[in-house]
Amino acid sequence: MNESKKVALVTGATRGIGFETVRQLAEQGIHTLLAGRDAGRAKDAAKKLADAGLPVEAIVLDVTDSASIEAAVKTVKDAYGKLDILVNNAGILVDALDKAPSQQSLQVWRETFDTNLFAVVEVTNAFLPLVKAAPAGRIVNVSSQLGSIAMHLDPSSPIYGFKIPAYNVSKTAINAWTIHLAYELRDTPIKVNAIHPGYVQTDMNGGHGEIDVPTGAKSSVQMATLDANGPSGTFSYLGKTLPW
Ligand code: NDP
Repeated sequence: MNESKKVALVTGATRGIGFETVRQLAEQGIHTLLAGRDAGRAKDAAKKLADAGLPVEAIVLDVTDSASIEAAVKTVKDAYGKLDILVNNAGILVDALDKAPSQQSLQVWRETFDTNLFAVVEVTNAFLPLVKAAPAGRIVNVSSQLGSIAMHLDPSSPIYGFKIPAYNVSKTAINAWTIHLAYELRDTPIKVNAIHPGYVQTDMNGGHGEIDVPTGAKSSVQMATLDANGPSGTFSYLGKTLPW
């Protein structure tokens, strides 16, 4: 591989928005690591894109498993010595729909936060030395407009009163963490941004949604490929700033 080529890694990329994000990054010539928690599923998904001539490679990464994270970091370090782009895309929605916040079980809160917050923090911290080793690192946190406190407070917002509490609050937390990490890295070339992919037709929504998967990947790709003048510490959808 050409040393100057960019290397990207997308978590939770065996299907849905993550898989499409890999395709779109690879279509730009970026060597993209398709990360999945199951070796077989990751390999099959990567093969589909590699067979189409795209620079895609599978890597095993269960974002909730510290040993798996450590092994993935070692693989990337040994092969490339840097990571230009990290897209924290893996996420789960395990709330029962329309569950009142006071009725949601602690187990659901914990399970949701394990994947949607703590795993993102652990994966990012583990890869950060490799992102710092790249000339201009980009970190994208796949959040949701359901994490927007401002929208939940606005009676005219489409999500006002929307009850999937553990998921919503996990995305609020990832937004806040995005701000803090961007601030920590403000004097480096690294940019850290959160995005809302849109309401996308994926398995997470039982195939329902307002936009197709290729459109759903665009916000991540846009923030992953920002140039040096691009923003850091933002929350957006297709380039449009969203309220926190
Ligand atoms: P899907 O449910 O279609 O896909 C989720 C992906 O995450 C799968 O590849 C799954 O892997 C992976 N994943 C889950 N847990 C882990 C784990 N522990 N380790 C590694 N991978 C894991 O979701 P979407 O594509 O719809 O969502 C992608 C992201 O976009 C999520 O963060 C979601 O919250 C966010 N989002 C989605 C919206 C939508 O409308 N779809 C709206 C707003 C935000 P596996 O195949 O192994 O199960």
